[in-house]
Amino acid sequence: MHTFFDIFTLRNGLYAKVQGNHGVYRVSIFEYNDQIDATCSCYIGKNGYCHHCEALARTFLLHPTTIPPVPAYHIADVRTATTPEQINQYIRSTALAELLQELERNRISIKSVAASLGVSPQRIRALIKKEQHQGVVDELTPIKLSCLWLLDHLNREKPR
Ligand SMILES: [Zn+2]
Repeated sequence: MHTFFDIFTLRNGLYAKVQGNHGVYRVSIFEYNDQIDATCSCYIGKNGYCHHCEALARTFLLHPTTIPPVPAYHIADVRTATTPEQINQYIRSTALAELLQELERNRISIKSVAASLGVSPQRIRALIKKEQHQGVVDELTPIKLSCLWLLDHLNREKPR
């Protein structure tokens, strides 16, 4: 019996964490390119074929109404997210690609964001793809926070 926590739906996916034998696993089931895909961070679940993915699908089918949807925030809603929970939801639902586009509109390239984070632009592009494919990628949170900090800083610098 698996007890899921931090369980939610966001856009085209269903996400949860579960305590496993070797730590906490992140389990995802999502629609991508007209197909249902799944992945789990346990040692056999990379392509979804593990008991965690199966149990999450079963939980959703049996108790769909107990799983809360995460509101899909727009990038401009940053100031409406005030509680820690809302900030977390904002970061999850705002795509990295969207944040980087906003930075590019302010003449900050992916290349310079990558340089300031100490990673390669290829790494950032790979993470964008991963998020587009998977919906929620927790490792993106620090990069998204950096982008938000840059955007906020730029907005303050603008003459009024
Ligand atoms: Zn698994």
